Amino acid sequence: MNPRAAQDRPLPRGTETAAPDLFARCHAFTRVKEAKAAGLYPYFVPISNSEGTEVTVDGHQMIMLGSNNYLGLTHDPRVLEAAEAAARQYGSGCTGSRFLNGNLDLHEKLEVDLARLVGKEAALVFSTGFQVNLGVISSVVGKGDSVIIDKLDHASIIDGTQLSQGAVYRFRHNDIGDLEKSLQKARSHPGGILVVVDGVFSMEGDLADLPEIVPLAKRYGARLMVDEAHSIGVMGATGGGTHEHFGVTQSVDLLMGTFSKSFASIGGFAAGDEYVISFVKHHSRSLIFSASLPPYAVATVSKCVEILRQEPERRDRLWANAHRLRDGLVSMGFDVGTCCTPIIPIIVGNTLRTFRFWKCLFEGGVFTNPVIAPAVPENSSRIRTSLMATHTAAQIDRALEIIQVAGKTAGVIG
Ligand code: PMP
Repeated sequence: MNPRAAQDRPLPRGTETAAPDLFARCHAFTRVKEAKAAGLYPYFVPISNSEGTEVTVDGHQMIMLGSNNYLGLTHDPRVLEAAEAAARQYGSGCTGSRFLNGNLDLHEKLEVDLARLVGKEAALVFSTGFQVNLGVISSVVGKGDSVIIDKLDHASIIDGTQLSQGAVYRFRHNDIGDLEKSLQKARSHPGGILVVVDGVFSMEGDLADLPEIVPLAKRYGARLMVDEAHSIGVMGATGGGTHEHFGVTQSVDLLMGTFSKSFASIGGFAAGDEYVISFVKHHSRSLIFSASLPPYAVATVSKCVEILRQEPERRDRLWANAHRLRDGLVSMGFDVGTCCTPIIPIIVGNTLRTFRFWKCLFEGGVFTNPVIAPAVPENSSRIRTSLMATHTAAQIDRALEIIQVAGKTAGVIG
């Protein structure tokens, strides 16, 4: 049939008019064009070269204060060599799911190493951290169950709850009284309860109150999952995460971590008791129906885990750098909120002022990330900074000078 003629045929009776244009909302989306016209668009900045602590943008070298490369391992020669060797042995990709043709001995060896690192029986490697939260939460929380999350939990946790068939409750950030209210509501459903919190909150740089959350969850018979994306390699005596930092490993039922931060690559994992991980392995759609982590990425992460074990001083350097930047910012009068990790937000409040501050920083030679609602609560826009173990004291001091000038120019400090 002639497609033109088919398009012009009248609609059947009862369907009076065609649907409104689905893309009308795209047409009406002009904020980005306006921000670009004002020279204040801070996202999707193309980096043309990176040496880890310094990057090049549009021909200008900048101090990188906006990565999650906490241990500074993305450019470590041992890591690059391991990645290259794996690509040569296994090829550039697995071209399939682990469930079928994409499972390598490398994935399984990494799972053994990760389980040991976090003190759990078993681990399961996924292709991104986001997929871990989608896959784990949606597979373990079923009809009649409940899932309870902190209001500042990561987007992947929120999306995981949406994919689950359970009732969803959200409690105020780190508010234990509010968590208890959610637990009481969840008890009105017949099924089990999962509480999910970030170990380190990615936009605040503060910690989940695990010493309070653990016993409360236990009292109500709830299972607890901790997202250690920003704490693996950073928190705890061996870099295991916040569960290790607080000494509650055995009381946390499920842990997840990503490889896109301390482990210098991409991917993620879940860890827990063997029978739970086996269930997730055979029910998680984001694992089963998505191609597996490529060999070079698996080898990168394995090498990073090895270096983390061998070089604890790397974490010491990271913490020394975090204290240097934080102390400097506080002494200049910046508001860094409740942060106590290598993630240090500079809270501005007003979104336009945040963009102006970001631009001054950018032009001054410091790469940072502006964060606005809905990633953070309304009226708490901020510049997110984060440290690496490989930043030098001179780089941090230079960044502080630039931040001070930018802060004055943008009216963030007096
Ligand atoms: N959880 C948290 C707390 C995160 O910050 C992120 C990513 N920023 C993720 C999960 C998702 O991890 P990935 O980037 O590895 O997909």
